[in-house]
Amino acid sequence: HVFGYRDFTQQAKWDAAFLPVPDAALAGQHLKILTATPHWASSQQDYATAVYVADKFKAAGLETRIVPYRVLLNKPVKISIEAFNANGEKLMSGPSPEHVDPKKHGGDPFQDLPNILPAFNGSSPSGDVTGEVVYANYGSLADFKKLASLGISVKDKIVLVRYGSNFRGVKVYLAQQYGAKGVLIYSDPADDGYFRGDIYPKGPFRPESGVQRGSVQFLPIYPGDPQTPGVASTPDLPDSKRIPLADLKGNEPSIPSNPLSYKDAAPILKCLDGPVSPRDWQGALPFTYHLGGTSRVTVHMHLEQDTALRTIWDVIGTIEGTDASQKDDWVVAGNHRDAWVFGAVDPSSGTAAMLEAIHGLGELLKQGWRPKRRIVIGSWDAEEEGLIGSTEWAEQHASDLARAVAYFNTDVGVSGPDFKAAAVPSLKQFVREVSMRVPSPRGGTVYQQWKTVQETDAGNHTASTLGATHISSLGEEDVRVGDLGSGSDYTPFLQHLGVPSTDIGSEGPYGVYHSVFDNYNWFTKFADPTFVYEQQQARIFGLEILHMADADVLPYDYQLYGKEIAGYLESARRRAATSHLTLDFAPALEAARRFESAGAAIRDRQLSPPPNPASLNRALRDAETSLLNPEGLPHRSWYKHTIYAPGEYTGYAAVVIPGVNEAISEPDAARANAQLAQLTQALNRASAVLEAAK
Ligand code: GLU
Ligand code: CA
Ligand code: ZN
Ligand code: ZN
Repeated sequence: HVFGYRDFTQQAKWDAAFLPVPDAALAGQHLKILTATPHWASSQQDYATAVYVADKFKAAGLETRIVPYRVLLNKPVKISIEAFNANGEKLMSGPSPEHVDPKKHGGDPFQDLPNILPAFNGSSPSGDVTGEVVYANYGSLADFKKLASLGISVKDKIVLVRYGSNFRGVKVYLAQQYGAKGVLIYSDPADDGYFRGDIYPKGPFRPESGVQRGSVQFLPIYPGDPQTPGVASTPDLPDSKRIPLADLKGNEPSIPSNPLSYKDAAPILKCLDGPVSPRDWQGALPFTYHLGGTSRVTVHMHLEQDTALRTIWDVIGTIEGTDASQKDDWVVAGNHRDAWVFGAVDPSSGTAAMLEAIHGLGELLKQGWRPKRRIVIGSWDAEEEGLIGSTEWAEQHASDLARAVAYFNTDVGVSGPDFKAAAVPSLKQFVREVSMRVPSPRGGTVYQQWKTVQETDAGNHTASTLGATHISSLGEEDVRVGDLGSGSDYTPFLQHLGVPSTDIGSEGPYGVYHSVFDNYNWFTKFADPTFVYEQQQARIFGLEILHMADADVLPYDYQLYGKEIAGYLESARRRAATSHLTLDFAPALEAARRFESAGAAIRDRQLSPPPNPASLNRALRDAETSLLNPEGLPHRSWYKHTIYAPGEYTGYAAVVIPGVNEAISEPDAARANAQLAQLTQALNRASAVLEAAK
């Protein structure tokens, strides 16, 4: 028995017809073509990838459109970073080009190709600033507080931080609040370089000149085009509907920032004096890290950015639904297509697999299959700058998406063999069931391999939030599915609009994230030489779509959802007690238990549904929408979901019951009680919807 189906016999035939179609060699071909040139969002090469993807959608029989938006993007004109010692002698002048020795370990055949932009931060303003340097570890809230407690001010300083722990935009958000005048973010070899293993091209980790580009937008405030939160930046949107740049205030970076390699950061860090850094702030460079804040080292950052409205292109492919009462229900799936440079893993490994999943759906269409629900596939643009293509499209289609029964995301589709997933609790079991139906190249099913890796804890790789559970409240017996925070395109669907979402990928050691070296050469040496994990990814992604499009009854598990929320509340209550906050958790806990019982009761109905399950399905879908709070979170009203949000100070990692947990962190008892009341109302709304289901 498969949850959601009255009788799986017919569907099992479609599964059997689908699974052999996604082809490893074809996925390899897509990957090679998509990664042949740098294809930064809005470039001509990016447009060429849109045309390639659109052609594949059409070949599979999807009704396909290339959908443009006009959005604010910065393109570097000049990036100069220099450091001097107290005598005015130059310590470094950069950024150094990303380059490895062509004579060692096969070198890198991509590094000298044209159209590689210098390493820069999306959303950094231009600036010409000079200042003393302070080392601030990861640039987390705790790190800035620690510096303050040590009597070291970052005011009017240039803050040097290392990657890791939080989203880079959060580092800049905090540095700006603490009064810094510029930020340099470098990749410490402890995080993804030689300390982790052999460096590229000998091994998969970051070589000394490798730089992690990336957006520093204030993602936890809102993603998408910075001038149009809540509104779609269609080409005809008049300027009067865009927030003037001067009014973006604390919602966008106002101080310049840039990423650096450890080759360029080391001479700065090495020369810093001042106190020895706290010992857990020490990275893997071969000297003792000091905090600086003295005039021993000065950095001059001169950044010229061409910040302008630019055209980006989503590709949208549709397969119409055929069931009279479900055909307006959408199953949406997507992956971004733009890359900082070649983007082999991020995002082309996801796109190649998505194209093979669509190849499989196309084959079913030829054999006469017609989905009950409408399938909509998105190849998003400008994700790297801040989830822009997906956010603008989701904002444009907000009312239709109230009937979207799922959004399936993939991004870093394959960086190695270890399958991972994150999902809303209602879809955790759904992802597990899909993974049970797909064979693993290592033998058995993907599900079995997933479980084995998790039990042996062998799958802990760099730079991922897939599989990370914020508070493991359940002591789950089954394989763990992570919580959805942010950093990829599910955010507008789940956290702005309440579309139940999942995110999947398979991972391995991956030290070249957002660098020139994330290219076809790296991928075929270290990630998936024969593309069998691409095939696996295509099969899982395709079955997610197929099963959700055809299920008789929506396969959501609200009993588990309620149980998880009760667990989040118990954890929050313990946190509040530790901070000596007196909060009234009783009504929210009672509401979570009610939601759990309503979930258990509706599960029985899902297992033996009425002849026409349309209104049952409607109730199941509306329960998730009920978890939205129309007012949104304090300070960040774009985020409407009461259970999941990217943390204001984490960015990538989810904060669960964010309104409550963030008020406890402040600590702000009045705000926490108000947020508990909002949460209680949302849970009671959701329960009422399930209880009234016909
Ligand atoms: N996935 C990208 C990153 O982590 C974009 C995230 C964002 O800016 O929203 O850098
Ligand atoms: Ca917008
Ligand atoms: Zn990506
Ligand atoms: Zn990326």
